Amino acid sequence: MSYCVNCGVELDKDAATCPLCQTPVVNPVCPVDTTLPPNFPVERREVEPVNRKELALLLSAMLGCAGGCCVLLNVLFWWQGVPWSAIVAGACAMLWVWTVVPLLLRRVPSIWMLGLDLLAVAGLLALIALATHGWDWLGRLALPIWWGVSVVLLFLWYILPRRSILSRCMLVLGSCVVLMLWLEGCIDLFLGGYRPMWSLVVAVVGVALMLPLLIIRYRPGLRREVRRRFHF
Ligand SMILES: [Zn+2]
Repeated sequence: MSYCVNCGVELDKDAATCPLCQTPVVNPVCPVDTTLPPNFPVERREVEPVNRKELALLLSAMLGCAGGCCVLLNVLFWWQGVPWSAIVAGACAMLWVWTVVPLLLRRVPSIWMLGLDLLAVAGLLALIALATHGWDWLGRLALPIWWGVSVVLLFLWYILPRRSILSRCMLVLGSCVVLMLWLEGCIDLFLGGYRPMWSLVVAVVGVALMLPLLIIRYRPGLRREVRRRFHF
C-alpha cells in the first residue's frame, strides 16, 4: 500500500500518479501494478439529449389518459348532474398547451407562446364557469385578475431581456407589488367594497426591498462592490 508523498492520500496499487494532486508515485517496496484493471472508467460517455418529439408524445399520452379516464368515470359512475370531468379535461388541455406545444413549435416567437398560455388559462376559466354556471364570478373576479396577470407578464416579457440583473430584480419586485394590489382590489370589489389590507403589507415590504436595490443601482461604487461579491 502506498501513500502520496505530497498530500498523504492512500493510493491504489495501480495508481501511477496521485488522483488528487497528480504527484508521481515512486515506491520501490510496492511498485505500481499496471496489470490491474483501472479503478476509474477510462471511456467518457455522454447521455443522449432527450428527443423532443418523444417527450411530447409521452406528455400527451399522460395528459390524454388522465383527462379521458376522468371523463369515462364521470359519465359511467359519478355523474350526479355535475360535469366535473370537463374541468379536469380542460386542466389537462391547458397543461398540454403549456408543456407540449413549446416542445413541438420551437421556432415560434416566445411572445406567441406566452399569449397562447394565457389564452389557455382563460379557456379553462370559461370552462369552469360553464360547468358550474359561474358567469358572475368569471366576469367580475376571474377575468379582471386574468387581465392583470396578463398585462404584468407581457410587460415583464418586453422589459426584462434589455435590463441588468439589479434592474430585473427591481422590476420583478415592483410587478409583484402591483399584482398583489390589483388582486386584493379585484377580490374586495367582488365581495362588495374596497378595503386594502394584506396587499398594502406586501407593498410596504416590496418597496423596502426595492429601495436598497435602487440605491445600489445608481451608486457606481456600491454597484461594483456588489458585482465583485456576488460574481455578476
Ligand atoms: Zn497527492
